[in-house]
Amino acid sequence: MQAIVLSRRDVREYDQIVTFYTCEDGKIDLLAKGIKKITSKNAAILSPFFLVDIDYVGGKDLPRLTTVQQVETFDRLSSNLANIKLMAKSLDLINRVFRQEHDRKIFDGLVEWLRLLNNEAEVHQAIFDTFVLKLWALLGFKMVIERCVSCGSVSVENISVASGGVVCKMCAVVKKKDGEIVFPINKSERVLLRKMFEQPLKVINRSLKLEWLPDIHTIIYNFVIFHSHQPLADWGKDS
Ligand SMILES: [Zn+2]
Repeated sequence: MQAIVLSRRDVREYDQIVTFYTCEDGKIDLLAKGIKKITSKNAAILSPFFLVDIDYVGGKDLPRLTTVQQVETFDRLSSNLANIKLMAKSLDLINRVFRQEHDRKIFDGLVEWLRLLNNEAEVHQAIFDTFVLKLWALLGFKMVIERCVSCGSVSVENISVASGGVVCKMCAVVKKKDGEIVFPINKSERVLLRKMFEQPLKVINRSLKLEWLPDIHTIIYNFVIFHSHQPLADWGKDS
């Protein structure tokens, strides 16, 4: 089955545990025996710069990787430091947040993202926000941006991360009293968020340069950390 390498870690002298995101089984850990031997021909393609096809057999403790073949390479990415950083941040995020979720659309979204990083010389920093926003929607946390999540009013000026979407003035007052974090949001920001949901990454990447509204990052970052129940570093800050 097709897979992307998320991370590798050493076990014993020549072996490693490789964490993959696969198209059929979601995130899995597999034991790659002998992968650190100089003669291992598989070592080079067990990296996020390749889309690979893998097979494995179930082991008592840990399933074992049996074959790995290259399907596609993201080799242009290897000379683009800015895009490598974005790739590393995204794989780390998926590695931390994902457990057993397996959804073909998540896998396809990840491949679309890596192809974008490979094919576009310049990727707007905010495209990572778009990728994360779409990913969280697939995980079941789709930000509501059309109507107040509490009363259905179309006149909205705020967004509550805990309630999962925009709220009207009246409902915002109630939510704030309840201790929810509420951010202001304007019409242009909602229009841009809708585009981020609807358009392919490649298309939105080209328009972000002109249209980007920085407050959207704060909204998306807070939305994501609230709905992932664990601390995540702010990907908008350069580390
Ligand atoms: Zn309302």
